[in-house]
Amino acid sequence: MNAPTPLTALRAADVAAWIRRTSQLISAHADELTALDAAIGDADHGANMKRGLAAAVEALPEQPETPAAVLKQTAMALISKVGGAAGPLYGTFFLRMSTACAGQQSLDVAALAEAVAAGIGGIVQRGNAESGDKTMIDAWNPALSALRTGAAAPAPAETGSALAAAVEQAAAAADAGRAATAPMLAKKGRASYLGERSVGHVDPGAASTALIMQALADVVSGTAADAA
Ligand code: ADP
Ligand code: MG
Repeated sequence: MNAPTPLTALRAADVAAWIRRTSQLISAHADELTALDAAIGDADHGANMKRGLAAAVEALPEQPETPAAVLKQTAMALISKVGGAAGPLYGTFFLRMSTACAGQQSLDVAALAEAVAAGIGGIVQRGNAESGDKTMIDAWNPALSALRTGAAAPAPAETGSALAAAVEQAAAAADAGRAATAPMLAKKGRASYLGERSVGHVDPGAASTALIMQALADVVSGTAADAA
């Protein structure tokens, strides 16, 4: 079989495929997310996210017109279906992403980086977390850096897709960010109530963010064809 051709930009249907792939990965890892939240929170993150992404998939327009429309529907579903801290935070992320790319038919790597930056801005405005506070921000910030680095680099000759190269790096960076939360002391959210006892556990929100970025990498690389 030939290697799949990576995307060079995200159209509305690709953004919808991202949400479907995210739902698949979150479902597959829901128990793991819940176990992480059981250690330093209230054991609801896996169930919360699974329910929210299922609602987001349900809300996807049949023929999405723009990336912004898909992102906005997703935001609304997450805000209404995911309880706790993560629902409003992820909802705000997708809503701000949507606003940032309003009117665009497709997103190249630079547009994606700016939309993700706007999304992260929304999370920070709501939750006030900084890098090192042991939250989803510790996965988002390195992902954004990788996207920005990729946006400034020439497209690799092998695939011709700057988007695919950058998103792959961003997924790896988010995953490294997830792992790096383990030794941190939680300063925000429910885990912060534990103080020193939060040390030694991966943050559940950083883990779900890493899955969201992995889902995007799967769609952009063309390996998530079943989700398209
Ligand atoms: P809750 O903590 O209300 O049960 P969840 O378990 O669904 O909500 O989500 C917990 C995750 O939310 C944490 O692991 C963390 O990544 C994220 N989080 C919590 N508070 C904040 C905050 N202020 N800023 C950014 N992320 C946060
Ligand atoms: Mg929780």
